[in-house]
Amino acid sequence: MKILKQNKTAIVTGGASGIGWAITEKFIGANIQTVIIGRDQQKLKKAKDKFGKLCIPMACDLSETGRIPDLVEEIESKYGGINILVNNAGINLKKDFLTVSDEEFQQILQTNVAAVFTLSREVSKKMIHQGGGSIINISSMAAVYGLPKVIAYTASKAAIEGMTRAMAVELSPKGIRVNCIAPGFISTDMSAKALNGDKERLQKVLSRTPMGELGKPGDVGDAALFLALESAKYITGVILPVDGGNSIGF
Ligand code: NDP
Repeated sequence: MKILKQNKTAIVTGGASGIGWAITEKFIGANIQTVIIGRDQQKLKKAKDKFGKLCIPMACDLSETGRIPDLVEEIESKYGGINILVNNAGINLKKDFLTVSDEEFQQILQTNVAAVFTLSREVSKKMIHQGGGSIINISSMAAVYGLPKVIAYTASKAAIEGMTRAMAVELSPKGIRVNCIAPGFISTDMSAKALNGDKERLQKVLSRTPMGELGKPGDVGDAALFLALESAKYITGVILPVDGGNSIGF
């Protein structure tokens, strides 16, 4: 694989909040120019104000997948080659299986799966052209074991893990490593919505997490930085749990 020595450029979807914010922080700390994508202009501005010159906010609703090819062209033409892509943006819906509508199910898959596919395809074309790159997908414990009340989210994260392997076998020979992080339960707005007010669920999470506490967004940020760079140059196709042992907990 050709390893690019100059300053790198990364795209982090959902980079203006939660886990994405922490990944952006780690990347910028490593001098990586980081394009963050989200829908909420205010969140993007707040991140730009905090991270400064190396942070490039771009507003886009990635579920509108038809917009993605132009978005990738714009990023490449304005900011240079894309070396790293972190498919972090995602949405959840906590609702009983029997009450989830077809539209709600589709909406989760559109953001969590279809947008990841389209963005990865478009960015991969650029990476192949420039000699390689690194793609990191974000899965969840929902892909590891059966979590109640998150049917669409579970389907989407199981798809992400399958797509990671399928992408890795096709893209690694072309110089693109494709890996996945499966976070356990990490303190963010998303997990607060799922766990706050549901003491039983929180208790269950903690009781099967050998390290005994929720993770911090920066724990995932550290893993993403490791997988993104030459430190992981012989690693592709892995699903790395960052979960305090939750996935192997009793
Ligand atoms: P947040 O809700 O804090 O962040 C999600 C981000 O995704 C937001 O920045 C949001 O930006 C962006 N996003 C959502 N939909 C779209 C869209 N259509 N287009 C563009 N951006 C979008 O969640 P977390 O930080 O907790 O989650 C990040 C990832 O980690 C997700 O994939 C999630 O499934 C995964 N994860 C989280 C866990 C946790 O415990 N927190 C556990 C396991 C996995 P905006 O609102 O501006 O559009």
